[in-house]
Amino acid sequence: MAESCSPIMNQKDFIISGESLISSERHLGPLMLEVGYLDLKSPIAVISPYGKPCSNGSAGLFLIDDINLDKTSISEIESSLKGIDSKSAIGLSVSSSQDERLMDAARFASQNLFLLDLNFGRNRDWNRLLAVLPRIKRCGTTISARIRPEDLSADLFSKLCACEPDLIHLDLRGLNGMGPRFVKKVADIRGPKIMALGDVKDFDDAESLLAMGSDLVSLKGADPEFAEWLSQAMKEYDALSGWYNAPKHICSGGDLRGLAFCCPPVKHCPLLGALKKAGMSAEEFVERKLTLARGTPLEKGDGTCFGSLVWCCKITKPCYLRDAALSRAGLSGPEYMALKKKLAEDILKS
Ligand code: SF4
Ligand code: SF4
Repeated sequence: MAESCSPIMNQKDFIISGESLISSERHLGPLMLEVGYLDLKSPIAVISPYGKPCSNGSAGLFLIDDINLDKTSISEIESSLKGIDSKSAIGLSVSSSQDERLMDAARFASQNLFLLDLNFGRNRDWNRLLAVLPRIKRCGTTISARIRPEDLSADLFSKLCACEPDLIHLDLRGLNGMGPRFVKKVADIRGPKIMALGDVKDFDDAESLLAMGSDLVSLKGADPEFAEWLSQAMKEYDALSGWYNAPKHICSGGDLRGLAFCCPPVKHCPLLGALKKAGMSAEEFVERKLTLARGTPLEKGDGTCFGSLVWCCKITKPCYLRDAALSRAGLSGPEYMALKKKLAEDILKS
């Protein structure tokens, strides 16, 4: 029998009508990323302790942490949220020993367009997570599942993907610089979007997680001024670059999205291994890229190595041949990168 859940239709209308707990102002401004029903204006999420909200500034997501539903009622959560002045999307990170409490929180989250971050890290009862996740999904709730790399076996990851959470929230703290490599491993399996909780101390730390395939970076215990600065810097970076989490070239260790920058398979190089990982033959790759470029500004590219911008390198690699072709096509660098972003998504669609 279908779960009894609040209807999810017209929830955005509901929010905009002013009846939501949180100001609808958070939906204003340029959209950078869509996750379920969340519209995020920055890829930075600020994690704040429940009951002691820190400043969240211009973060894309304000995630309230450590809500133990065995000790906290929905009405208490509701009251605590009334005191928060946030223009960010809101998330609730919850745990409970009782599935029905999680279901109540799921209904509450979906009614208010909040993310529900399921944190099973304490009891690590992954079978219970796998059982309750589809039930919560049926409420239309946008969900993330928080997990540590040591708990994420290939078997668990594939079962988790089958439950279709909107985000995998990878807790990568304390990995001594191995976080980006782990993000790449998960990203290359092409599952849900990734939110990486890492030891982020500067822009490069955040960018190294994003460049390996993370869609969001979450900060826990970060200085509010740093979080505000990073969030703004990421927005500016996206506007200037056209692709805030653009991958490296495959031969520089990038994830599979880097196929968008690869040339035709004419030599022995890491492209061949990447194609194997993506489950694509060299012929399919060529055919797919040519088909996707047809009729788009990437199709042309006289004077470039392979006669079409679809085979050209990342904008950060200096190349006067590509730049001349871009200029003839009337494309700016960010526009070129935005087209490559779409190309990467389409190449990897199964
Ligand atoms: S095809 Fe080109 S960009 Fe891709 S891995 Fe090979 S050398 Fe690098
Ligand atoms: S023309 Fe320049 S950007 Fe294009 S593939 Fe050749 S080296 Fe790369």
